[in-house]
Amino acid sequence: MRPGSLIVIAFGGNAFQSKGDKGTVEDYWRNAYISANTVIKLIEEDYRVVVTHGNGPQVGIIAEWMALGLKEKNIPPMSLDIAGAMTQGWLGYILQQAIYNKLREKNLVPSKVKGVVTIITQTLVRRDDPAFKDPTKYIGPWYSREEAEKLSMEFKWVFKPDPRGGYRRVVPSPDPIIQVEIDAIRKLVDEGFIVICGGGGGIPVISGNKGLQGVEAVIDKDLDAERLATALRADALLILTDVEYVYLNYGTEKAKALTHITASEALKYYEEGHFKPGSMGPKILAAVRFVQNGGKIAIIAHLSKALEALRGESGTSIVPG
Ligand code: ADP
Ligand code: MG
Repeated sequence: MRPGSLIVIAFGGNAFQSKGDKGTVEDYWRNAYISANTVIKLIEEDYRVVVTHGNGPQVGIIAEWMALGLKEKNIPPMSLDIAGAMTQGWLGYILQQAIYNKLREKNLVPSKVKGVVTIITQTLVRRDDPAFKDPTKYIGPWYSREEAEKLSMEFKWVFKPDPRGGYRRVVPSPDPIIQVEIDAIRKLVDEGFIVICGGGGGIPVISGNKGLQGVEAVIDKDLDAERLATALRADALLILTDVEYVYLNYGTEKAKALTHITASEALKYYEEGHFKPGSMGPKILAAVRFVQNGGKIAIIAHLSKALEALRGESGTSIVPG
């Protein structure tokens, strides 16, 4: 990949919390500095970088805080779009400071990079997206049937029995169309800033008579990262997670790491059921969509192997074809 190439990085949950972490403030900073190092390595190699990230665990935590606040102090809970905005501020701030401090340490700011900025990002979804009729994404705490019924009456929340027992709130996961702030993101990237945006897949909004309006839903961060990378005509979409490769027959004795595959091979394996719906599935779909929409390469790799992945030495790359 040429110097100056634009890379959209999608960080997964392990960018903020590694296995076994309690999720203390110290844990967040330690992990953010590791993630920041990944970004710095790419900057040192003259790549330009846009960062997006997930927020599943953090939205879950905010939902727990709100549930407790309601129960103990009768503090009204906020809506899910507002909770999403909270996580973008929370995680954006941490990443933004960690990346900035690392850039400063290496004398890369403002010489190579102008600065680091987080954008509260709204992502447009269709008001008639079929997902709204079939909420599938579990969020927040587990409740008894009685509690769930009460909350469902009071806040119009939808509950479903959780396979692990109890009842949990479910929300729709509509398909992202475009980031409302995409022009501002593009301008800042062109000006030489590292932009952190689309956190948690972006805050889902619909467009109506009165303008934009947040909805009670969550967007998959990998699918949103594809929209971002496609809109910015990025040279690569780099999805960083906690496994080094995408595997066939994952978790079995017959597991086989994939290194280089075409979009049609990826789709074939997808249809054969090799990738779990809530985890690897959306990453594969995002990678396929990116190369089908004009992107040259999407790579799924481990958080600590970003540079190796861009050199073709690690991770699973998906190319057109
Ligand atoms: P992230 O927070 O990075 O999005 P996810 O947990 O959503 O992480 O997705 C990564 C996980 O996907 C891996 O830890 C692994 O358990 C799971 N996974 C499911 N199917 C596969 C597969 N075929 N190959 C590799 N990992 C897979
Ligand atoms: Mg995920």
